[in-house]
Amino acid sequence: MAFEVPSLSYDYNALEPYIDTQTMQLHHDKHHAAYVNNLNNAVKDTDFANKNVDDILRHINDVPDSIRTAVRNNGGGHSNHSMFWAIMKPQGGGEPTGALASAIQQAFGSFDQFKAAFNDAGVKRFGSGWAWLVVDNSGKLSVISTANQDSPLMDGLYPVMGNDVWEHAYYLKYQNRRPDYLAAWWNVVNWDEVARRFQQGSSGR
Ligand code: MN
Repeated sequence: MAFEVPSLSYDYNALEPYIDTQTMQLHHDKHHAAYVNNLNNAVKDTDFANKNVDDILRHINDVPDSIRTAVRNNGGGHSNHSMFWAIMKPQGGGEPTGALASAIQQAFGSFDQFKAAFNDAGVKRFGSGWAWLVVDNSGKLSVISTANQDSPLMDGLYPVMGNDVWEHAYYLKYQNRRPDYLAAWWNVVNWDEVARRFQQGSSGR
C-alpha cells in the first residue's frame, strides 16, 4: 500500500483570506504530492513501504543509509503536511479550551505568550522549516522549530501543532512578509484537532 496524500476536508478556497486558493492548490496538490511520490520511490520494495510514516520517523536511524536522507526529507514532508491540513479549518481560530488551554497556560503563562513564542520560532527559523508546539514524554509542552522537513518525532517529541514557514506556504500572498502570514494563520487553526493531538501525544503513544 503506497503512501497517499490525504484529501482536504474543506475546499481550496475555504481558508481565504488568510491562505489564498492558489497557494492551497499548489501546496496540497503539487508540493505534498511530490513528497509522497518521492517517499514511495525511496521505500519501494522495502519493508518501510508498509509502515506508518510517523513510526518510520520515530526510528529514522533504523532506515538504511542509502535511503535515509530521502526518507527523512520526504517522509517528514508527508507527515508534517498531513498534520498541517488537519489542524486548519474554515472559521477556525479563537482559543483552545479544556486540558490543552490549561497546559498552555502552565507552560507559557498565557495563551498570548504562547502565540508570541510560536510566532517568534517561525520568524527566526532561517530558511525553510516549521514552527511547532510539541509535547514530550512527561507531558510537558514547549515551542521549537525544525529545519527543512524534519519532524519533532525524530527527536522523541510529539508534534501537537505546527506551521509551515517554507516560502511555498505563503509567498504568493505575503511575499517576504513571513510575520504577517504567521499572525494571520491563527485565524484558521482547528483547535478541536489540536486538542485531539495533544491528548494523543500526552497519553502513551
Ligand atoms: Mn509545505
